[in-house]
Amino acid sequence: MMSGENTIIDNENISSGPDPDHATVKFVASNDKDLKYLTQAVEEAYIGVECGDGGPFGAVIVRNNEIVVSCHNMVYKYKDPTAHAEIVAIREACKKLKEIKLSECEIYASCEPCPMCCGAIHLSRLKRLVYGAKAEAAVAIGFNSCIVNGVKGIELFNKSNLEIVKLDASIAEQVFHNTKEKLSL
Ligand SMILES: [Zn+2]
Repeated sequence: MMSGENTIIDNENISSGPDPDHATVKFVASNDKDLKYLTQAVEEAYIGVECGDGGPFGAVIVRNNEIVVSCHNMVYKYKDPTAHAEIVAIREACKKLKEIKLSECEIYASCEPCPMCCGAIHLSRLKRLVYGAKAEAAVAIGFNSCIVNGVKGIELFNKSNLEIVKLDASIAEQVFHNTKEKLSL
């Protein structure tokens, strides 16, 4: 990745990209680790709904290949519309690490972060974002459409070195189908 540029690695388009060899190497190198932590974020999404804490969204922050925090959406529990999984994870990770910069950490989100969470990800200096479902999958079951375009829709996107990976993980999309009966949207 060149300094000053963002990289989005979309594994759904990996074989048809302009530089498939380069992209394939990145995909293979990161696949096992990324899938492991994304799976953890997806499990958090289910746990959050089961507990009644919030919507079906999970986020995990990892440093040096170790989980720092594993969180889910807490909007219902905290009565706080900003308590998205990524925000909760950033707050808890900063508290735990006693830092306000998470530049050595990566965040795994079960779903594409909304504009608010993308802003928080940039502010906290996280070095890498990996997400599973597209935000449109959440909107399709009734979540507010203002959550889309977080990754690409903010000006900050063009100003940071954040590496962004969209994993092609159907488990992340399935969360919405599997939990929608339990949600009151
Ligand atoms: Zn959010």
